[in-house]
Amino acid sequence: MKHIDPHVHCRDGVEVRKANIRKVSELAREQGIVHICDIPSINCPILTESDVVERLDLARRRRPVIGYSVFMTLTSKEEQIKEAVRVAQKYQEVAGLKLYPPDNEKSVVYKTLAKLGYSGVLAVHAEKASLFKPKLFDYKRPWTHNLARPPETEIASIKEQIQFAKEADFKGTLYICHITLPESAAIIWQAKNYLNIYSEVTPHHLLLSDLQMRGENGLSLKVNPPLRSRESVMGLLKDVRFGLIDCIGSDFAPHLTTEKLLPPYLSGIASYQLYGMALDYLRDQGLSEKDIEKLTYWNIKKVFGEKLKNA
Ligand SMILES: [Zn+2]
Repeated sequence: MKHIDPHVHCRDGVEVRKANIRKVSELAREQGIVHICDIPSINCPILTESDVVERLDLARRRRPVIGYSVFMTLTSKEEQIKEAVRVAQKYQEVAGLKLYPPDNEKSVVYKTLAKLGYSGVLAVHAEKASLFKPKLFDYKRPWTHNLARPPETEIASIKEQIQFAKEADFKGTLYICHITLPESAAIIWQAKNYLNIYSEVTPHHLLLSDLQMRGENGLSLKVNPPLRSRESVMGLLKDVRFGLIDCIGSDFAPHLTTEKLLPPYLSGIASYQLYGMALDYLRDQGLSEKDIEKLTYWNIKKVFGEKLKNA
């Protein structure tokens, strides 16, 4: 069975083991993945045409063993949005645009995209940064990350993206990355009545809860959005079983151990083992091979359309 991973963060240029484009592509291939979409992390944005050209050139030199596309970072600055739209339309290898907090709180992003007639994919990290409570995080109690970025920040942000898109008459495809709550799945499912909108879930949010962050390696499981309660994980699983969530993306995000375990205790999980485990788990839960292929291939082809026509 073929899979596409629409959400990975390759990390070239930094000495992180198993992190560059080549190595990530090899790990992905072991899971049956035939194409990866590389999303620039928030610290290393891809903002301009020359950033894209540089990244694609690097990718060619790394010689990934499977198909490779890249996302551009989208800010809330109108000039940059214009540039991103132009470049995304020009290069087949640009899969879409990625919007992060706090720029995802600006309606101007959607208004500008609509004005420019953008019809491609807008992938959103939907957490509302203005509702974060960073002081509640205590590294000695890693599960407090879930208090610092609580569920309501995700729900509020998803509602906001939908409202912005509706008000602006956004004509593109809204792709809500890594949802962690059954409430999020329900909101997105309802919005399908009037928007081109899809949801993504990660293997770690399906397999792990904040309970695991109380164990020895709690800090290594710090991720954004955070691992949630057992109840939320169960609810999310139920939604996947009922076909209410569209896609699986790994959100493979490599870091050095020191970056995870020492200040600033960076967020991100990099484990392709979890990808295979999640698919096996879904099979155990009664999903058919056809259901799994839909989550990991056909729905992703649907989201990206022409951009992934060769995947
Ligand atoms: Zn990510």
